[in-house]
Amino acid sequence: MCYRVAMDVTKQFRVKPGERVRLSDWDPGETLGMDREECERRLAENTEAIGRLQHRLYAEHKRSVLVVLQAMDAAGKDSTVRHVLRDVNPQGVLVTSFKRPTSNELAHDFLWRIHRRTPRRGHIRVFNRSHYEDVLVVRVESLVPKEVWSRRYDAINDFERNLCESGTEIVKIYLNISPERQREKLVRRLTDPDRAWKFEPADFETRKKWAHYMEAYEDAISRCSTDNAPWFIVPTNRKWFRLFTISQILRDTLERMDPQLPPLKIEPEAAMRLLDGID
Ligand code: ATP
Ligand code: MG
Repeated sequence: MCYRVAMDVTKQFRVKPGERVRLSDWDPGETLGMDREECERRLAENTEAIGRLQHRLYAEHKRSVLVVLQAMDAAGKDSTVRHVLRDVNPQGVLVTSFKRPTSNELAHDFLWRIHRRTPRRGHIRVFNRSHYEDVLVVRVESLVPKEVWSRRYDAINDFERNLCESGTEIVKIYLNISPERQREKLVRRLTDPDRAWKFEPADFETRKKWAHYMEAYEDAISRCSTDNAPWFIVPTNRKWFRLFTISQILRDTLERMDPQLPPLKIEPEAAMRLLDGID
């Protein structure tokens, strides 16, 4: 049964192209009947497989993977990166956290800072926040007029299509947390000295506008989930289910890509003869 669940996870939480998403229909507490122990065991299997596949992706040096993580504050983007990528060779993985744009970044089109950080061949790149902020916080906070942000969905789809055609596999994940669970996590963040540094007073402002953010997320996910660059809505209230699910999505993506070790540059016997000739 669990094997079937694992196989289905990627399909289950994938948003079909053209589907109109209503987040109230997606349960942030979903666990597909799995328990913590099972999910943690499968997470370990998945991270190990991701490590093996990433080794081949790096060696193949032809294609790349871009993982986009988007969520409300404290949903667990950082912990997702830490756990899901724990078995990969750091040489082949880069993580970029997109913050408020600098004045230099704002002096360019919104994709300028993004495009410079897309993954090179052989690499996995994680975007902790991304170009989607330009149709999320920017829309909710009216940082640019509606005529400007409303054109960005098409620009994003064109941009992502170009990346796909250039050999980048894109996986976009929305960590779906409930407002109640976010409250618990914000409280923990405030009361735990190890976590308090992450707290931003602006997090409360964002939380106040929850409904506006959900509307913006629904539009972004509905308009930009494509065959090439699908969105996944991952139930996030339970950490162990979130980590298992995201690791499964990434593993499935890499398995489907099936990266191959490159051909040998020289037959090992011929290389041995050369080596003997030198020594
Ligand atoms: P956490 O989820 O752990 O709080 P974080 O991703 O929120 O981490 P922060 O440094 O707290 O990291 O916040 C980054 C801030 O930058 C967010 O509030 C985000 O909305 C904002 N930001 C990112 N991109 C843009 C953008 N293009 N325009 C405006 N604000 C942006
Ligand atoms: Mg924050």
